[in-house]
Amino acid sequence: MSARTPYIAANWKMHKTIAETEAFLGELLPAVAEADDVDVVICPPYPSLVPAIELSARSRVRIAAQNMHEDESGAFTGEVSAPMLTEIGTDAVVLGHSERRTHFNETDEALARKVVTALDAGLEPILCVGETEAERDAEATESVLLRQVTRDLGSVVDRRIADVVIAYEPVWAIGTGRTATPDQADEATSFIRRTVAGRSTEAAERLRILYGGSVKPANAAELMARDSIDGALVGGASLDPADFAAIVEASRP
Ligand code: PEP
Repeated sequence: MSARTPYIAANWKMHKTIAETEAFLGELLPAVAEADDVDVVICPPYPSLVPAIELSARSRVRIAAQNMHEDESGAFTGEVSAPMLTEIGTDAVVLGHSERRTHFNETDEALARKVVTALDAGLEPILCVGETEAERDAEATESVLLRQVTRDLGSVVDRRIADVVIAYEPVWAIGTGRTATPDQADEATSFIRRTVAGRSTEAAERLRILYGGSVKPANAAELMARDSIDGALVGGASLDPADFAAIVEASRP
């Protein structure tokens, strides 16, 4: 077993009002109170960040935003910057989710800037990478991961690489009910770790790499059992506090 602390994050996407966030945390916080050996992170929509931060203040649960602009301020209608997130006490930020890459044209160039901006601001970046189904069918999974990891971490100095959390999320497994097999997830996360080792073996050893894509209570344990998989980024199953707590429990060392 690796010495890395398991990391389980809930990506709520555009789900849950403030009232629903409060009800969720009311159930989740007691359910994960004993799991002090796991990093638990909730990524609600922006309006729920402040209430979530306040409600989780005396727990180990940390709160992340789902996106952030790379500039500090400017004429970018609809965007939110790192200082705005840190001012309210946000701990982390999801960057490069495939839905943002696909629907909002998020590029590796922008992500390279976002990752450094987040780190400099004191936000933990949860960087998502992963291939589409067509890319997997074309046996391009490794070249896609190599390109995304190399470019998105391109401006991060070696000693800060392990401050990033990488989520391997095959696009064909997100929200589809089709989970990657433990072997597929292991191969891809191991490849990502070897890619990072090409820059720094120490960073590769410390770096947390998560799997994301239809993780549920029923499949979490067999994925987490793999040495190269340090946790999960959970979408659909994270909307239910009991299911999400069960996934946290399954990841405990
Ligand atoms: C996600 O949104 O990052 C995700 C992995 O979703 P799901 O668990 O629903 O596949």
